[in-house]
Formats: sequence, structure tokens, C-alpha cells
Amino acid sequence: MGTEVVVLARFLLTGVALLLAFLAYVSWSRRKDVPEAATFAVLALSMAVYSFGYAGELAQTAVPAARFWLHIEYLALPWAGALWVMAACKHNGIKSRPLLLFLIPVITFVGHYTNVHNLFYTAPMTMVHRPPFWVLTVQRGPLSLLDNAYLMVAFCIGAWIYLSGLKHASSLVRRQSVVMVIGSFLPFVGYFTYLGGLSPWGLDITPVTLGVTCLVMYYGIFHCGIFNVSPLARNIIFNSMRDAVLVMDTYDRLLDFNHAALAMFPVLNQRNLGTPLLPMLNSAPLLAGAIIRGDDKAEIQIEYATVEHYLVRIWPLFSSSNPDSRQMGRAVVLANVTAQVQLREELRSRAETDALTGIANRRRFNQVLHIECTRFTRGHAPFSLLMIDLDYFKEVNDRYGHAAGDEVLRQVAQILLATLRSTDLVARYGGEEFAVLLTETRIQGAMVIAERIRAAVEERVISADGNEISLTLSIGVTSHTEEDAEAVEELLKRADEALYRAKAAGRNCVDAG
Ligand code: GH3
Ligand code: MG
Ligand code: MG
Repeated sequence: MGTEVVVLARFLLTGVALLLAFLAYVSWSRRKDVPEAATFAVLALSMAVYSFGYAGELAQTAVPAARFWLHIEYLALPWAGALWVMAACKHNGIKSRPLLLFLIPVITFVGHYTNVHNLFYTAPMTMVHRPPFWVLTVQRGPLSLLDNAYLMVAFCIGAWIYLSGLKHASSLVRRQSVVMVIGSFLPFVGYFTYLGGLSPWGLDITPVTLGVTCLVMYYGIFHCGIFNVSPLARNIIFNSMRDAVLVMDTYDRLLDFNHAALAMFPVLNQRNLGTPLLPMLNSAPLLAGAIIRGDDKAEIQIEYATVEHYLVRIWPLFSSSNPDSRQMGRAVVLANVTAQVQLREELRSRAETDALTGIANRRRFNQVLHIECTRFTRGHAPFSLLMIDLDYFKEVNDRYGHAAGDEVLRQVAQILLATLRSTDLVARYGGEEFAVLLTETRIQGAMVIAERIRAAVEERVISADGNEISLTLSIGVTSHTEEDAEAVEELLKRADEALYRAKAAGRNCVDAG
């Protein structure tokens, strides 16, 4: 029975060693995919060597042979702690300091093989019989204690790094983070089982627990990762994006969101992950609408203290980069385009505004005139048109200068604005010509308004460039009637002709056509 247990233990440990060697090989071949893969491969390989050495040691009954296998184990053991911390750092995107990490391992490695002045082992090794095993018993020196302590501290640091990674993990990598934390605590289980005398035959079961740990870590690293970048780096990118990102599953349940999304929708929180997203978007019904429609490129407005404009993009998410794979959900990306929209509005308004007077320009006037003409339907009150030209304006320029002339144009524009209703449109039609569109106004009403304008300008003394300037203007009036519903050009021509007649009649008067 005794020898069978020994054979079984050796068999088990050799199996662990082979498995670890295989994991090391696979990890190494995937080192381009995952940041910590190469470090993890070396760690798994060293654990394989350790298990293999331990399997050899267990079968021995005499000191020299057992010691030979112990030397094999120590080819790998001193490096484990440093590799462990390095892999944890790489996984979480922390910069590690390999030189510092490997300082103590180098010392203990050299110490083990030289045992200078009994620094590693202080007494000759003996074999103690704990049936059915013969256990190599050593008296630990300071370096050996340092080696052990370093390994413990390294496991603590590793566990702490994985734990803090869990704290920052977004829900997409939470499962991976949980697996890594579990993995990082396993070595302690093995260690304390051994210390508490709970391990079978009082054997050191560390190689087995480290083997299991490596397996769990391998699963976490290569099978739970969603993105092939370090999860923490992914978190940093995700959360530092200025665009708000909401991730939802195929049932429109919230899976993840970034800081920018939280800033927009304070109602989001970790607790409502997995619950329907749309009810959380009460403050943005247009966004909810775009999501429901699946509109993958919508421009919406959201009102906070001010109105903000967002470009909403909705991307399908697939389970892998293969587009034929199963759709996992959708990502909603909200880019704040308020500045662009404002710029666009400003450009549009500039294209329709007269730079000198700030009122509408000819282009805008013609646009509105066309719209009014096509909108006009029988039974509606017709609209009217005024064409206004300043009298003898050339003389104003000649006497007071061009700058004063410009000021006069600005002030005449203000008089026109002040005289008209807000529903009327006043535009600078040309050099010193203005045009007015009077909505819902028949010819008689238009004549009254024209006369009011004429009188207002005549009465006003305009101060410009240190001069007191009086001037008059002439106005041609026409109305859009039911008979000529379509002709914009005809309308303008009639107004021009009326203006011409007003000029011919001696100026400072109103004529209708
Ligand atoms: P009337 O219309 O009564 O026949 O005489 P008028 O002197 O006003 O003649 P006309 O309409 O032909 O002259 C237009 C003048 O308006 C010519 C030009 O010097 C002046 N003018 C046109 N645009 C501007 C402008 O932007 N600024 C200034 N200061 N003057 C302008
Ligand atoms: Mg003119
Ligand atoms: Mg004129």
C-alpha cells in the first residue's frame, strides 16, 4: 500500500508538471494577444520544473538523491514570486520594475547552490521517515527564510493588485477580474493547509496548489478576457472618452457605461446593470427614440440648463471579430456636437445676414418670398411687398463721406425694424435699397405701413460721423393677390415699377402697383 501511495503522488505531480508545461507552451504561443502571456508562460514553466523536481524528491530514500531533486526544484522556485508580481502588474497595466523584483531571487538562487557559510541551510540534511514517504528535512538558514518570506510577500502583492483591478473593472471584465482574484488567493490556501498540518501525510502540497492556481489563472487570462488589451488599459480608454458610451445586450438591458455617460445620466449606477436601459433615459426621449428605431446615425438634442446637441451612433456588438458570429448587444455612442451645430447655425445665419446692417440679405429675402408664394393658398390674406430706395443717397456719400453713408444705412435699417411687426421681414436688397415682406397684409394696409415708414425716416435726423443728416426715401408697394399666385418675378417687377413711379413723382412718396 505504501509504495502505491508514493507512486500515485509521483504520478500526480508529474501530471501537474506536464500540464503546466503545456500551459506554458500555449501561453507563450499567444504572447502577442495578451500583455501578461509571456510572463505567465515563464511562470507556468517554472512551476512545471518545480513540480517535476518535487515528484523526483518524493521517491527518494537517501539524502544525496533527494538533494539532487531539490536542486532541480530550486532552478525554478526562487523566481516564482517575482514572476507572479510581474504578471499581475502586466495584467493590470501597471509598470513593474523587473530589476528590483529579481534582486532577492538572484540572491537566494545563488545562495541555494553555494550555501556560503551556511546561509541557506544551517545543518546537514537528513531523511525523516513519515510512512509511506521519506521526507528530506532541512534546517533553514536566513537566506532560505528570506526566500520563503519573499514568496509570501509576492503572493500578497499579487493578490492585492488583482483585488484593486476588480475594484476598477467595468462589468465587461468583471468575470475575468473575479477569476483572477480567486486564482491569486489559492496559493494561500495551500500554504495554510500545509502550515496547519492539514495536508495529507504532512506533505508540502504547494506544487499542487500552484498547479491549480496556474490553471485558474490561465482560464482567467485566455478565456474570460473580452478585449485583447489589458483590461485596465481598456478601462482607462473607455472611461477617458469624451463620448458617452452605453453598452446593452440584445434585450436592451444595460451592461456597461463609461464616466461620460454617467455624467450625462446620473441615474445610471452599478446596481441597475442588467436592468432595462430605456426607462433610465427619461431625460432624453429623443435618444430613447433613436435606440428603439435602431437609428444608427441620429442627431438629437438634449436639454439641460442649455440645449446640447448629440450625434448618436449605434453599433452592433458581436461575440467575436467574425461578423457572422452571434450578436451580443449594441453599443450606443453619444458625441457632443453642440459646437459643430452652433458653428453650422452661425455659418447659415451669416450667409443670410447683411454684414453692414445686421438685417436679412437679398438671398434670405428671396428665399422667404419664394416660400411665401408657394405656401399661399386661396382664402388667405395676401401678403405685400415694399421696395424702398433712399433718395439722392449718392449726395449723402459725397457730402459726408462713405463712413457716414454706411451709418445712415444702419440707422435706416433700425427705423424699418422698429416700424414693422416681428412677423414682417425686412432685408437690405442692394446698395441703398431695402425690401419688406408684410405677411397677411392687403394693399391698403401695406400703403399705410409704407407711409408710416416714409414719415418716420423723413422726421428723423440721423447723427452719423459727427453730422446731422436728414434724408427721405421712396417706396413702391405691391400685393400678392389670388390671381397671380405663383409669380415671384412678376411681383418684384411690379414693386420696382411702383418705386420708379414714386421717384419720378418727385421722391419722398409712396406709389402702389
Ligand atoms: P435716387 O435713388 O434718388 O435716384 O438717387 P441716388 O443718389 O440714391 O441714386 P442711386 O440709387 O443710383 O445711387 C445709389 C448710391 O448709393 C450709390 C452709392 O454711392 C451708394 N451706395 C450703395 N451702397 C452703399 C454702401 O454700402 N455704403 C454707402 N455709404 N453708400 C452706398
Ligand atoms: Mg438705388
Ligand atoms: Mg437711391
